[in-house]
Amino acid sequence: MCCHECGVKLEFKKSEYLHREFGLGNVVLKNIDVAGCKCGETVQLPFPGTGMYLAIVHELGTKPASLDLDEFTFIRKALVSFAEESSEFAEHIGFGFQDLIKFNDFGKIDTSSPETIRESVKEYLNTADDALINAEAMKEINRCIAVKLGMRDAAELLRFRGPVMSEFDFKIRELSTRAVESIAAKKYASSSAFKSGVQIIYIEMPAR
Ligand SMILES: [Zn+2]
Repeated sequence: MCCHECGVKLEFKKSEYLHREFGLGNVVLKNIDVAGCKCGETVQLPFPGTGMYLAIVHELGTKPASLDLDEFTFIRKALVSFAEESSEFAEHIGFGFQDLIKFNDFGKIDTSSPETIRESVKEYLNTADDALINAEAMKEINRCIAVKLGMRDAAELLRFRGPVMSEFDFKIRELSTRAVESIAAKKYASSSAFKSGVQIIYIEMPAR
């Protein structure tokens, strides 16, 4: 592989890489292929699958200090994808129409309630647009998470800008623990180091 900028042939070495792409400033990927040239670093990032999300969520749960807003937001988004993936976790948060997000071809959907969505799916199964149903499922998952956290609705959760009060901190960690326990995907090996109270999360890339 050559650098896109200068064309020099890149030599990859297993290294550590501070991965900022999740919106967190403290996630270090270990054993990842990194090459350097005058243009900077080129990193061969893996697709951040469920195993990586589980590892980060798990490590954030070990932080003794309260979560900050970025961490809270990261976990919230991860929980949404966990609920899409695991019917067990979906059920735990009270998301009752998880099967809807698995279909690809829907018709006109009446989104006024889970019941009408269900009816619409039956009626229009062959002609529709699954983006709508996915958006609807996502909205409902966020509502379920909001309720679990003691908030009124999804809008309150999505508007939330902190601070993360101990009540929310406690409840979202509970959901995290539950997700890590109930999701079948293999969690990446992970660890944390605390330097003057600041957490650094290490995620070990599985050998290919
Ligand atoms: Zn270059």
